[in-house]
Amino acid sequence: MTMNSKLMVGNWKMNGSLAANASLLSDTLSGLGGVSCRAAVCVPAPYLAQAHSLLTGSSMALGAQDVSAHESGAYTGEVSANMLRDFAVRYVIVGHSERRQYHGETDAVVATKAQRALAAGITPIVCVGESLAEREAGQTEVVVKRQLAAVIHANGHCISEIVVAYEPIWAIGTGLTATPEQAQAVHAVLRAQLQAATAHADRVSILYGGSMNAANAASLLAQPDVDGGLIGGASLKAPDFVSMLKAASR
Ligand code: PEP
Repeated sequence: MTMNSKLMVGNWKMNGSLAANASLLSDTLSGLGGVSCRAAVCVPAPYLAQAHSLLTGSSMALGAQDVSAHESGAYTGEVSANMLRDFAVRYVIVGHSERRQYHGETDAVVATKAQRALAAGITPIVCVGESLAEREAGQTEVVVKRQLAAVIHANGHCISEIVVAYEPIWAIGTGLTATPEQAQAVHAVLRAQLQAATAHADRVSILYGGSMNAANAASLLAQPDVDGGLIGGASLKAPDFVSMLKAASR
């Protein structure tokens, strides 16, 4: 359990338009009365400027969905950590399973991305999680520990500045959710691994992600080592996202 309030982060993935974002953010912000948890939305890169301007003055922080492993230069199509910083980005997702799977991101690349974010003063949300085949083979613990170890190794004493998201791949976008007990078991493993690396492991928020929704959020968030959520589909519906932010504020 961390000393922080819960952290709820929306991941819009590759969804949105100028018009849709404006109404989603306005509907979400107007529902924030009584919300005391920390909250952020990770938007597609072209919409950072729009979201930055719409979120300024609100309690909702801005996040990005990826960052380059390189600092600057001849990397066509990439977005650097310093560019994100220009839009007051507070969080950046690194190592989402969709990027590991479709863009070949290795543990080493993910660790470098986390480093770039930290160097720019941005909190990396480091995603780890096993596939269904790995879970069925009893490999869950080995896989998530290997993924987190790479980030711990590359980031040394800064490791207490990261956020971790446990996202079982079989639960992402599938409507299948880890049970609160399954989530807690993995979160406890990750917490112990962080404790072995830093005296400040209690500062690290460990989020659960994978079909979290308005109906299941409260029971997941009730687990001692579930410090918040990383929310895909349900963050695109303002009433659902607001209701989850309220569940995280109790
Ligand atoms: C995610 O994109 O990180 C995620 C957890 O998606 P969903 O909530 O849609 O499963």
